[in-house]
Amino acid sequence: MINGEMSKDLPIWIMEPELTEKRDLAARKLLEGGQKKAHIPQTPSLDDIKQQLKGIREDALSQIDHLTRELKANLNQKYPGVKVTQARDEAEAVGYITRISDGTRTISINNSSVVSQELKPGLLASGFNVINSYLDEFEVKERKILDYWDLPRLEEKNLSGTFNVSIKMAGIDQSHPTDGKPRKYLAVLGANAISAEDTTAFFLEHFSNIHKDLKEAEKVVIVIGLDKIVKHRQDAAFQTKCMGIFGMESILLGIQPEPKRGIAIAGLSLPPADKERELHLVILDNGRSKLLEGKFRELFLCIGCRACNKHCPIRHSFTNVDYVWTPRNYLNQFLYGGEKSIDICLHCEACRLECPLQIDLPGLMWKAKIDYISKHGRSFHHVILGMPELLAKLGTAFAPLANRMMDIGLVRAPMEIITGVDRKTRLPVFHFNTFRRWFKQHA
Ligand code: SF4
Ligand code: SF4
Repeated sequence: MINGEMSKDLPIWIMEPELTEKRDLAARKLLEGGQKKAHIPQTPSLDDIKQQLKGIREDALSQIDHLTRELKANLNQKYPGVKVTQARDEAEAVGYITRISDGTRTISINNSSVVSQELKPGLLASGFNVINSYLDEFEVKERKILDYWDLPRLEEKNLSGTFNVSIKMAGIDQSHPTDGKPRKYLAVLGANAISAEDTTAFFLEHFSNIHKDLKEAEKVVIVIGLDKIVKHRQDAAFQTKCMGIFGMESILLGIQPEPKRGIAIAGLSLPPADKERELHLVILDNGRSKLLEGKFRELFLCIGCRACNKHCPIRHSFTNVDYVWTPRNYLNQFLYGGEKSIDICLHCEACRLECPLQIDLPGLMWKAKIDYISKHGRSFHHVILGMPELLAKLGTAFAPLANRMMDIGLVRAPMEIITGVDRKTRLPVFHFNTFRRWFKQHA
């Protein structure tokens, strides 16, 4: 374990399965149905874990200003070699990265939401070539798990408690590392937690992308969302571990066939041998402190584990979005203008039940929708679809004609434009002789 010694290099911990069997192998074994039983140490019950996690998150939420100040002061005092900056929003963070890039155009990012969702659009708009090194490591050729019900119960496979610290890195290596040379690119990596007290940064890694980027990038920028700062190192470690415990199934569900390859890091040029590698740390607010003031305060508790994705019935409708889709990220995108609506949510509550912090995402989606409507009014689609009785009355009054019209493709297209109902939808058949009419005649 770590002792409390002072070091000029920022302590960085990467968490991954501690067993020889790595998680990608485990994933492939599960996909192939030939899994091996792994030895798992006894873990406390999930309810105990959830309770402890909630305590850590609520503590962080209640003292975030203090924790941010403490983190900055400790970084400046203990690690003057680390360049620390605070960014109010994504534009400031992207501006900072652009300034320090010094003409380097290639950026490798990890799959964290703070980077892949919040910073990536700005980085692309600023002309960087952005590589997602996490996706580049997938070697699964065929998507075999299509739905939750195809997924083997991980606890039965002894895979739920496998996360533990297996690598400790103390800062980024200045010397030429043995397993790869520094290359001329920037790694922008969203951390999963950081301790304000001793400044240890934690990452959860399923493959080896983060480890490689920390070893090989000429400049490393660690991005810390305000919500990732907790007081103690053991709390930061616990929070990161929870992401693995609760998010494992979502990771397997999210496995895609081999994605399109980007620029290969190994092909990038080498920086001058005498040039020191740089470590930067960006503390990013980007609306988080505003969240704390309002009705979406609960979102600050989120650890980004993606468990809310597991049973969501609408997740398959979002295969083409350019961010990691989860109910939580969907709401975030809507709140910050990346999604135009959140109407697709069925408010089925599955995400709330799966969330280890029981964040009421369906309730928050309602609130977001109400806010939007009170600001922008109801769309014509909503007004029309909000009058099902009137629509049904009109349909039955003109039943034979209405039914025939609905079979004509030329009518369906304007219907889609006016009502928002997809032209491929089969609407129920209207009957002129309604039950009431029939009852009156036969009573
Ligand atoms: S409430 Fe909405 S976002 Fe949550 S699981 Fe159901 S459909 Fe998905
Ligand atoms: S909202 Fe989703 S990502 Fe956030 S903690 Fe809950 S399950 Fe995890």
